[in-house]
Amino acid sequence: MTVYGLIRFDIEDFVTQESDDALEFILDVMDEFRIPASYGIVGKKAQSLHDRQHQKILQRLATKNSLGFHSTTHSEHPTLAEELAEMDYEQGVKRFIERESVGVDVVAKLIKAPRYFTQPGGNWVPQAITALVHLDMPVFFSDSWNSYIATSTQPLWIEDIVHWSVPVLNPRPFAMKLPDNMDDAVTMVEQASSKLSTGDAFMVMVHPTELVTTKFWDAVNFEFGATTATLRKAPLRSRQDRKEAFESFRSYIRRIASVPHVEWVDVVELSSRLKPLSSPHLGDPSELLENLSQNGLGPTTIRGENFSAADEVVALALLLIGTTPGQELPRVRAPQGWGYGHLLHAYAAHPESIDTVESGAREIIRQVRASGCLPRAVGRGSESIENWAFSAIFHLSQALKRPVDEFPPLPLTFLDYVKEPDQLHWDWPIFPPNFQPYRLWQETRRLAWSLKPAQYRS
Ligand SMILES: [Zn+2]
Repeated sequence: MTVYGLIRFDIEDFVTQESDDALEFILDVMDEFRIPASYGIVGKKAQSLHDRQHQKILQRLATKNSLGFHSTTHSEHPTLAEELAEMDYEQGVKRFIERESVGVDVVAKLIKAPRYFTQPGGNWVPQAITALVHLDMPVFFSDSWNSYIATSTQPLWIEDIVHWSVPVLNPRPFAMKLPDNMDDAVTMVEQASSKLSTGDAFMVMVHPTELVTTKFWDAVNFEFGATTATLRKAPLRSRQDRKEAFESFRSYIRRIASVPHVEWVDVVELSSRLKPLSSPHLGDPSELLENLSQNGLGPTTIRGENFSAADEVVALALLLIGTTPGQELPRVRAPQGWGYGHLLHAYAAHPESIDTVESGAREIIRQVRASGCLPRAVGRGSESIENWAFSAIFHLSQALKRPVDEFPPLPLTFLDYVKEPDQLHWDWPIFPPNFQPYRLWQETRRLAWSLKPAQYRS
């Protein structure tokens, strides 16, 4: 039995010079114990390393298999979520690309092209999912602390992106409290290896700057939506404390390196072990209906084929227009503009007539083939897509003489994969007080139509 351990270094403090020493020390330790890890850097940090003549550090980062991008400016206001909060989705995608491509270019020029993205602090934004394709970063390495997607030990596809929302198994704060919390930190990794199952992933999150400071560098300068007149470095630990923190970090790595049943791996490598994204084949109608009646509309695997909720709707539509099982489904993404006011987690009503449902099926297939997206509604916009799916399941079940309750509700299970607002990191100390970007959350629920399991190659 083996579980995957991902160590993620968020390299971001472009203000505190001493954090460069911490990064260099961490690189030494990781080389010493030969443990792969993922190194996500902020554009401004790459620039500051360059400006401070740290060519050697930049070169060492370039040798890492898993170099990531941790935004252009991290906590500078407006942060990503602050700026995108009220924009419509497409406008937000455009703005994401404009502001983040600046940092991607700096990292690519000074180090090498980054291969994954990690949101800065609480700035998980759904627009990243579309923007990352354009920025050539196919992996979104998020975490249980900041992601809007529910925590999972397995990766998921969302639209065209591999998304990781893995449990963070270290104390919070972590490195800033070393050496005091070292035993706890090691215990958490040991427990992972006994509690998780083969093929599950967990992560450890470290900010190099924590080894040398007593307060987060960005809280010092950007707390509560405001920026200090001049940027100040974070308060430093004493020289002796820094030495102890370094040594304790080294012991931590030495100890977790030998925890049994954990394979330490970087996120780019682990993502490359996944089967490529593909559309499922149309299968046996009874199996599809059985799955829908048990799991509702949401990510699922039927006979090794992975379905999103959107795939399931397309499969229902194809079956209703008499398509023979066997063919590959057309590629389908989330509907555009779905979700405002949809706060239900299950759909129940009276089914529409069979004629209405069949003409809806033809409309769905036509629109999916034309746009690549699920329509948000059918019948000239009068019937929501979930209502159509509810009616389609009813009529297909009758046609197949499956026993059905009169009008069984249709759980919109894909919505369970998005955390509720009170679980989101909107209380990140850098955001303005009472920052509640509901629109970002609603767009995430819309994109959840496209969520589906990602599977490792066998
Ligand atoms: Zn960060």
